[in-house]
Amino acid sequence: MATTSLDDTSAIDEATRQRGRQLWNRLQRRRPTLLERRWWDDQLLEWAMADESVKVQMFRFVDVLPMLRTTESVIQHLREYFEEVRRHLPWAARLALSAEPGAMIGRAIAVSARNNATRIARRFIAGTDLAEVARGLDHLRRDGQAFTLDVLGEAVISDCEADAYQARYLSILNGLNEHVATWPHDAVIDQSDQGILPRLNISLKLSALDARFSPVDPEGTFERVAARLRPILRIAQQVHAFVNIDMEQFAYKPLVLEIFQRLLMEREFRSMSDVGIVIQAYLKDSEQDLRSLLAWAENRKTPISVRLVKGAYWDYEVVAAVSHGWPIPVYREKWRTDENFERLTTLLMRSARWLRPAIASHNLRSIAHALVAAESAGLDQRSFELQMLYGMGGDQAALLTEQGYRVRIYTPFGELIPGMAYLVRRLLENTSNDSFLRHSYERDVSIDELMMNPTEQGKNAVAPPPIVVPEFQNEPLTDFSIAENRDRMQEAIDEAREDFGREYSLIIGGRAIDTTRKIKSVNPSNPSEIVGVVSCGTPDHATDAIDAARYALSEWTRTSPEHRAEYLELVAGELKHRRFRMAALIALETGKPWVDADADVAEAIDFCLYYAAEMRRLGTGREVDLPGEENHYSYRPRGVAVVIAPWNFPLAILTGMTSAALVTGNTVVMKPAEQSSVIAAHLMEIFRDVGIPDGVVNFLPGIGEEVGPELVGSPLVDLIAFTGSQEVGLGINAAAADTDPRQHSVKHVVAEMGGKNAIIVDDDADLDEAVAGVLQSAFGYAGQKCSACSRAIVLDGVYDAFLERLIEAAKSLRIGPADEPGTDLGPVIDEEAKNRIQRFIELASEVNQIALASEPPSSSKKGYLIGPHIVTQVRPEDRLATEEIFGPVLSVFRARNLDEAFSLANNSRYALTGGMYSRSPENLRRARRELIAGNIYLNRGITGALVNRQPFGGFRMSGIGTKAGGPDYLLQFMIPINVTENTMRRGFVPPVEEAGQEAGE
Ligand SMILES: Cc1cc2nc3c(=O)[nH]c(=O)nc-3n(C[C@H](O)[C@H](O)[C@H](O)COP(=O)(O)OP(=O)(O)OC[C@H]3O[C@@H](n4cnc5c(N)ncnc54)[C@H](O)[C@@H]3O)c2cc1C
Repeated sequence: MATTSLDDTSAIDEATRQRGRQLWNRLQRRRPTLLERRWWDDQLLEWAMADESVKVQMFRFVDVLPMLRTTESVIQHLREYFEEVRRHLPWAARLALSAEPGAMIGRAIAVSARNNATRIARRFIAGTDLAEVARGLDHLRRDGQAFTLDVLGEAVISDCEADAYQARYLSILNGLNEHVATWPHDAVIDQSDQGILPRLNISLKLSALDARFSPVDPEGTFERVAARLRPILRIAQQVHAFVNIDMEQFAYKPLVLEIFQRLLMEREFRSMSDVGIVIQAYLKDSEQDLRSLLAWAENRKTPISVRLVKGAYWDYEVVAAVSHGWPIPVYREKWRTDENFERLTTLLMRSARWLRPAIASHNLRSIAHALVAAESAGLDQRSFELQMLYGMGGDQAALLTEQGYRVRIYTPFGELIPGMAYLVRRLLENTSNDSFLRHSYERDVSIDELMMNPTEQGKNAVAPPPIVVPEFQNEPLTDFSIAENRDRMQEAIDEAREDFGREYSLIIGGRAIDTTRKIKSVNPSNPSEIVGVVSCGTPDHATDAIDAARYALSEWTRTSPEHRAEYLELVAGELKHRRFRMAALIALETGKPWVDADADVAEAIDFCLYYAAEMRRLGTGREVDLPGEENHYSYRPRGVAVVIAPWNFPLAILTGMTSAALVTGNTVVMKPAEQSSVIAAHLMEIFRDVGIPDGVVNFLPGIGEEVGPELVGSPLVDLIAFTGSQEVGLGINAAAADTDPRQHSVKHVVAEMGGKNAIIVDDDADLDEAVAGVLQSAFGYAGQKCSACSRAIVLDGVYDAFLERLIEAAKSLRIGPADEPGTDLGPVIDEEAKNRIQRFIELASEVNQIALASEPPSSSKKGYLIGPHIVTQVRPEDRLATEEIFGPVLSVFRARNLDEAFSLANNSRYALTGGMYSRSPENLRRARRELIAGNIYLNRGITGALVNRQPFGGFRMSGIGTKAGGPDYLLQFMIPINVTENTMRRGFVPPVEEAGQEAGE
């Protein structure tokens, strides 16, 4: 074939179609026949593809299968998964569903389900150990194909798992080195245009080399990953092996690229050319990445390989971006990904001197285009390679091998259980609506359609449907994988430090008042640092503040709901503007690690905007008019509200309670927790800056025990919104109930009072997820969230495995100052809290069994740090099981069965949050019904409720009132009034504006 210029896109396209058709025609002769085993596999996949609901259930079943140890549980899960889609199943499958677990047929089905899943898994996974893999590689070699080995594994969540992952790669390099050396030379796969190629080739994921692969902390992550990767690279150099770094989720990409480039610039690796990285064409910014890799490789003066793929995490990227409110990083139309793939292929072929192309695809159009592009770029067949996945598109691989191309097979190996996640990904890929392989099986898709230029396809393509999201959009969390955001946060921390020691006044009726007595608010990560010095209100100031609020009430009440809502929007705007500054203060004053601190600000913004929108909704009232009668239902403020806030969500909860009171027309006395008075002072500054009239919000920092009784007891107070401990909350409730003859209303109390929250881990749970979820829920913000998990209740079947992994994962958490980005576990709030938590730990060491007692590193001894503690052998009646600890102490219970698990979980006076990890639909339904908690979370952590999406609040002893961030919350701050007017005068009735339904005869 005459070569075509790479710039002549239409000629390239024509040549691509031609090449594609030729390949296709040859492939048709290779389609499997009925006599081959893989025909059955293909049929099975085709059957699954036919109905989306069956497909989902089938893949879920495959996913859970390795965890099912008994025939009964296999049958139970089969039933639960397929019952809903029963009518879509073939008759034989319906019959099977009716089988009794104990009956012969039941046992036979269980065995057959396992065998089938194992067989399909073996199609995609080369083996479970090195010996088996070596045999598989011999096969590939005989077929003339090269390989790259990938170790499948559980998600890495502890240092020892990361060590084990590294060790497996080292053992591949050492163990297979001699084996591959025995193979006779094969000029096609052992030689490139630049020399002899390594036979041994591995692909690895950087996130698996670190328990805490964290885009928030690139420096720390680099150190840890590099420490594990260097030995791999060293051995690879010694044994002449190739190391490819796979690409994972978008959030990891900047860090993966950075680690790869930094490490390869180190002297000992700078001349290493047997390394490669992946570029994902579905990412909108992939061309930019490819170009900067090119510039980097030129500068390094040693080439690398680039594997061009489309990307394996498409669904995840869309869901994750939508969930975070971040821009979607991937193309949403398949033809755009394909088009970009071709564009990047061209660029790669042009840049082959520095970036050796490895085109990884099973799409015949993409492959044909790559072959034509390589020829047009004048490349020798040996100067690039084609890559495919083990078990996918095997016929294509064989055909291209026959045609003299170097074809490398990405060959995963490892245990079946961890391999299931991989298997399900491959199954999804094979059966996705947009998959080329799927289309190639569909009989009604012609070769012309299959070979169509993606840009052409785009002309006829229907735009993807808009993604449906709730009307209220949560404020996106800061994406710390973006370097600029990390820099801004660090700068904000530095600036906040410069401001340390600043003095803050009380603000009463718009007047700043300085007291002689002060609250010195310190940094719990380093108490010698004074974050700010805040005037300390007395009971007299409390009286003044209440008077000021009372005085401002009449004017503020008359301000329209619309106008009040606008004030909240201005506050939200200011919080956005000061976003990093506020987050920095939260990290410094209350010891919240970066991500939690940032989430606190985002939640404060959400509260303002959500309550503003809610007030607009409620502010219109409700009309029920009849001829001659007008009825108007509307709300009035209660009066003066006292807001008593905690330090653990120092901005979010204070803003939430205050903004709810304000927007509903109440005036407020804002009493922050002593430990977070500086953050509150900054919030007060914002209220003033946006022009909220004097006296509408009064700022009264002070000692709770001193000003509290006046605030709660004053006859001029109508409402108390409190979040904090149960003891204080109940005290406030009792005091508020004690009416004074001067009072005009019975005080209304809204109180959030903590929890003793449990997560149940079922014996079919995905332990990767369960361990990570429990870890985060128990030790996030050092266990100081009222939603935190303090009890994990684990079914007997997985108890040991769960506990072992949890302990190792908890050991791997980095304990340190909250303002350092690499910190997972910051300090507890103050000395008193530290002592109290330590008393619980002492008690646990006497009464229970301490399974893990992590100590903070000696370098961080100055802060109020307590390492994560895991306690076992806890009885339901023990203090550890019943009292809120508010620290990083988790009790783990063993439950014999689900009845016991639910009974343990519900054995609490609290009912705030609760959760369950399970893959049994029936057990999840049971959790919905039976868990006694205000917020129930299934298959995810139990902290991090989002305004509107997860309105938050508990019952029993956890709270009085309805949920914050939910549709009922504002109602608590108002009194409903109904006005009825008789509009008939002397028999004359004005017309009713909007009639309801027509009256009957
Ligand atoms: C050897 C090898 C190594 C690989 N290594 C990696 C790796 O390190 N990291 C990685 O992420 N992936 C990797 N993959 C997987 C790869 O990214 C693709 O998922 C897979 O190859 C399918 O692409 P295709 O060209 O074969 O098939 P096609 O059917 O042509 O393409 C399917 C792909 O198109 C994209 N897509 C699907 N729907 C849409 C849509 N609506 N809008 C936009 N795009 C869409 C997705 O990326 C999907 O996987 C590798 C694949 C191979 C063969």
